[in-house]
Amino acid sequence: MYNCAKCPGYCCSYDLIPLTKRDVERLAQHFGLGFREARRKFTVERDGEKYAMRRKKDEIFGKVCRFFDTEARRCTVYQARPSTCRTYPGGRCGYYDFLCSERNRQEDPDFIATTWSS
Ligand code: SF4
Ligand code: SF4
Repeated sequence: MYNCAKCPGYCCSYDLIPLTKRDVERLAQHFGLGFREARRKFTVERDGEKYAMRRKKDEIFGKVCRFFDTEARRCTVYQARPSTCRTYPGGRCGYYDFLCSERNRQEDPDFIATTWSS
């Protein structure tokens, strides 16, 4: 249905990646930090979310999750990733469908779509 290994990680570039308190606790445990330090290092409070993932610059999408490896294009905290990342995309991945469609159409297996909307 979709193959994240062949994708540049579009979903990790979402503007708002909300975390639960349990997600922050899991990341704190993963890095051997206290809750307050993990919250400060990894999250910001915005758009009504108490814990929104901090982001960093990315050449392809502009900004991505702070835990995304921008060279390898993969998550660096897979075992400790937040619940929203564990359940996404659920069924089919719309971005991946679009990406494959464009790669076929353009006969370019490396084509990267930087924008997409469902
Ligand atoms: S956008 Fe889809 S295919 Fe790409 S990393 Fe996310 S879930 Fe995987
Ligand atoms: S925690 Fe991992 S899977 Fe979730 S948005 Fe960040 S890099 Fe992507």
